[in-house]
Amino acid sequence: MQLNTDFSAVLNQAVFQHLKAAAAELGVETYVVGGFVRDYLLGRKKEVTDIDFVCVGSGIELAKTVQKRLPNAAKISIFKTYGTAMIKFEGMALEFVGARKESYHKESRNPVVEAGTLKDDQNRRDFTVNALAVSLNESDFSTLIDPFNGLEDLKKGVLRTPLDPVVTYSDDPLRMLRAIRFATQLDFEIESNSLEAIVQEKKRMEIITKERIVDELHKIMATQQPSKGFLLLDQVGLLEDILPELTALKGIDEVEGQTHKDNFYHTLEVVDNICENTTNLWLRWAALLHDIGKAPTKKFSKTNGWTFHAHEFVGAKMVYKLFKRLKMPLNEKMKFVQKMVFMSSRPIVLAQDIVTDSAVRRLVFDAGDHVDDLLTLCEADITTKNPKRFARYHQNFKLVREKIVEVEERDRVRNFQPPVSGELIMQTFGLSPCKEIGIIKEKIKEAILEGEIPNEFEAAKLLMEKEGKALGLKKVANEK
Ligand code: ATP
Repeated sequence: MQLNTDFSAVLNQAVFQHLKAAAAELGVETYVVGGFVRDYLLGRKKEVTDIDFVCVGSGIELAKTVQKRLPNAAKISIFKTYGTAMIKFEGMALEFVGARKESYHKESRNPVVEAGTLKDDQNRRDFTVNALAVSLNESDFSTLIDPFNGLEDLKKGVLRTPLDPVVTYSDDPLRMLRAIRFATQLDFEIESNSLEAIVQEKKRMEIITKERIVDELHKIMATQQPSKGFLLLDQVGLLEDILPELTALKGIDEVEGQTHKDNFYHTLEVVDNICENTTNLWLRWAALLHDIGKAPTKKFSKTNGWTFHAHEFVGAKMVYKLFKRLKMPLNEKMKFVQKMVFMSSRPIVLAQDIVTDSAVRRLVFDAGDHVDDLLTLCEADITTKNPKRFARYHQNFKLVREKIVEVEERDRVRNFQPPVSGELIMQTFGLSPCKEIGIIKEKIKEAILEGEIPNEFEAAKLLMEKEGKALGLKKVANEK
């Protein structure tokens, strides 16, 4: 891997020049460190959202001095307890910290800190590739300080801890998830001693809050190939603790020579597939969870072979429990994931069969605005290795998408509003609220979905009159 080791051009940018001047004014050694340096060296094409600065002195004082130099009254936030500060500048978060030494206690991932040297500060960083620092001092401006050979690790694509990995992970177990997340984001390997240390220390994850765990899962989900992260989580034994619903999908059973697919590996394939077509985090979660109901519903019978009866319904209920356990939002995001899981098998039938207008109308009616997302999920769900079937299913979904546009233009059943209201039914037959109104409305809806009448007022009104008559209702004289 070729690295961009020449920092001179990028350090000409205003932000670094302000830093250099502030550091000189205060007379404190200052460095840019962490993700910015790593990603610049790698030439990662990603928007810079945060830059970390470390100084041998007070990070807060440095931040205040920088702020005074920045145009347009940049906003500063000071976190006294942590001795850190943050400035918002040109859409970026500039993070400041004083170089520190850390010592940890068993019960907490928050260390006791004392002031230290740059080397002490680099020691406390999680990975050698995150411990690289570039000087912003006049004497050696733009020099890379790399005490752990992080450059070599970057070239080789390896994640290694600066100190003993067992101590590093035990001190702050969040680093285990960070290792797996960086391995997924950067497509790096975790060095073998590190992997062993994670297996050994995985119990320490107990002290990490659910919110932080989910934050890392989201970051894994946001990568191009989340399967890499989930396979690593599984390999070290963390997946079973965090998402047991997924590990329960593992394995292929065989009874009387009949097998079913391994739904764990299938799921991971579906997630990778969907990532090629959407950046919607929650749709990606839906792909991850779409089959979780299969473990508790799996059955074998002589007549039907392997079945997963109502797994979509069971899976949707499990989504709620999973979100609750992981303290994920129980709002419309969760409902969206539930809906996708619940409906995940619906379009499959269409892909295998002849696509009728009424089946498409029903799909659009039930999925509403989420029908495109649902199809994206179903297309990702095609993991058959039979090329003919693969092509046929995709072709059929293409047809479904075309029919959706056609049917929608004609019948407008997405976010369906009944063309005759309950009010009109009551007026027509002189009724007070009663079950006949619901029956008539349902008949009208069904007739529209089946294509028996168009989704229009006049046609619906005629049907209303006919159905009312069939129920023995009489039109009242003053009906308008
Ligand atoms: P990205 O912003 O792409 O997630 P990053 O490396 O900048 O990557 P941050 O979480 O912003 O990640 O952390 C900045 C730096 O702080 C890291 O590069 C690392 O040096 C250090 N760091 C962050 N969290 C930890 C931790 N839990 N243990 C040790 N060092 C850490």
